[in-house]
Amino acid sequence: MTLAEAFPEIVKRREPLAPYTHLRIGGPAEYFVQPRTVPELAAVLKFCKTDAVPLRMLGGGYNLLVLDDPVPGAVMRLHGKAFDFIECKGKTVRSGGGTALFDLIEYTVKAGLGGLETLVGINGTVGGSVRCNVGDRAGEIASAVRRVAVLTDEGTEQIRTRDELTFSDHRSDLDEPVILWVEFEFETYPPEALRKRMLKTWIARKASEPLSFQAGVRMFRSPAGTTAAQLIERAGLAKKRVGGAEVSERNGNYAIAHPGTTGRDILGLMDAVKAKVKEVSGVTLERELHVW
Ligand SMILES: Cc1cc2nc3c(=O)[nH]c(=O)nc-3n(C[C@H](O)[C@H](O)[C@H](O)COP(=O)(O)OP(=O)(O)OC[C@H]3O[C@@H](n4cnc5c(N)ncnc54)[C@H](O)[C@@H]3O)c2cc1C
Repeated sequence: MTLAEAFPEIVKRREPLAPYTHLRIGGPAEYFVQPRTVPELAAVLKFCKTDAVPLRMLGGGYNLLVLDDPVPGAVMRLHGKAFDFIECKGKTVRSGGGTALFDLIEYTVKAGLGGLETLVGINGTVGGSVRCNVGDRAGEIASAVRRVAVLTDEGTEQIRTRDELTFSDHRSDLDEPVILWVEFEFETYPPEALRKRMLKTWIARKASEPLSFQAGVRMFRSPAGTTAAQLIERAGLAKKRVGGAEVSERNGNYAIAHPGTTGRDILGLMDAVKAKVKEVSGVTLERELHVW
């Protein structure tokens, strides 16, 4: 029995992934799975483990390049109220792995809970953002994380507390297949002060990103003491183009996808940028973008 036969109501076959990614690029998933409940999700995980079906989690697709070939196995998306929720008890907030990060930031700022307001303008889901430890030098999401509920590849729920977790620059050691929910702890502040800080950050972040109508992704992690954007711009790579993929003029660490860009174009651009930066500055850039 195939995954589609076992779970006909929640599995689509050969679903194109491009509409689910920020770059609007990518081949179809062999099986595209949107479970409605946690037990259903756990059953899919168990099936995939038993039948050796490869499994990938899709968040908002903001830190993801899906190549042009079909993606074998199951691509899972947390969609619907079992995975998209925000619950608050005092200074503790629990949020579903499929909740939009922006909704959580808005909620905490309104509630006078400070800690996430400097992440405004970063898109994605809570699950993807915690796995990728989003942020910048002003702050990272990890600093507010207290507990994370994950599902193992056997579909068992486990809680990982902050002291069991390791976060570093744009990564975490959360390597179980699913981040189900995340619990955060915050400090209280006047909501007006948080809103002001949020607006200031939003203006600064938007000024250093591709224009809003451009589909762009961040390419590399920043090495210690400098930024990937500085190294790329210093190497004279602004506006460097491979096929439809181009280095953003506004921030050298973003690849923009013009209409018709393929996954290979983006990868080709990243390879060319990496090689030139190595030649000019001697630094080996490390990829931040996840590639399927
Ligand atoms: C214009 C732009 C600006 C950005 N600015 C910033 C920035 O300033 N700082 C910054 O840190 N990042 C930035 N990013 C990167 C991006 O927004 C974050 O990494 C994003 O939060 C990733 O979340 P996502 O839900 O989109 O994950 P996806 O891109 O869908 O997935 C990323 C990884 O997380 C995994 N994943 C997703 N959801 C789950 C889950 N529930 N459980 C387990 N694994 C999961 C995926 O399998 C994949 O490996 C920017 C991106 C763009 C396009």
